[in-house]
Amino acid sequence: MSNIVIVFDFDKTIIDCDSDNWLIEELGFTDLFNQLLPTMPWNSVMDKMMMEFHSHGITNEDIEKVLHRIPIHHRIIPAIKSAYALGCDLRIVSDANMFYIETILKHLGIKKYFSEINSNPGYVNQEGRVRISPYHDFNKASHGCINPCPPNMCKGLIIDRIQNTVCEVDNKRFIYLGDGAGDYCPSLRLRERDFVMPRKNFPVWDLICKDPSLVKAEIHAWCDGEELEQVLMKLINVIMMDEHVQFIASDCKLQTLSTSVIESFPKALRVQP
Ligand SMILES: [Mg+2]
Ligand SMILES: [Zn+2]
Repeated sequence: MSNIVIVFDFDKTIIDCDSDNWLIEELGFTDLFNQLLPTMPWNSVMDKMMMEFHSHGITNEDIEKVLHRIPIHHRIIPAIKSAYALGCDLRIVSDANMFYIETILKHLGIKKYFSEINSNPGYVNQEGRVRISPYHDFNKASHGCINPCPPNMCKGLIIDRIQNTVCEVDNKRFIYLGDGAGDYCPSLRLRERDFVMPRKNFPVWDLICKDPSLVKAEIHAWCDGEELEQVLMKLINVIMMDEHVQFIASDCKLQTLSTSVIESFPKALRVQP
């Protein structure tokens, strides 16, 4: 195991679209969705859409088939496999839902690479209807976050929890990847020794660019799956090299190491798909 924790958003980060929009468009329910959206939170609209699908005779198997066709950039799975092979702890924090994410990850054969998935509850009930509920029950109480977080989920609170549960003595270092406005709050929670990978020209990028000094973590943008893979592998290498240097330094009581020595360390392995 390395000391690296990688936290991925799901929609437009692991997959290359928004899973809710994909399902609604593929099933031909865009007009109804657009009618409902101004009347209630997104998460509640999706539960209602599932009821509509069910009453139109669309089964959960039909929904799964549509989810199996979801677009994903061809370099994402190799990037996930390489990071896992290098001993990183991979997790997902997503405002989609557990039903979609598990269906898609199982279909792609990559569920086993993730140690934890945090998302809105989603399951198939006794009548065979998919139910989606909020991660944070905003009917009981607000999560109280002032950042642009939807009422059903503050990803910042989830990152706080992960930071508190992974062992402090291990000196864990985080890499957080995301695209949406909801990924801004967790980006602000990262520390100096962490890294944030915002998707270039997406809402989280715009929010970070307004005042980058608010983000303590190092910022490394990416635009597509290919660049995501390149940047992620580079950062994993940098962190591993850092730890290696610290290990050598403490082991040999060396005060300084010349760059030529550091460069002679073996590069972290890159796993081919
Ligand atoms: Mg997203
Ligand atoms: Zn928040």
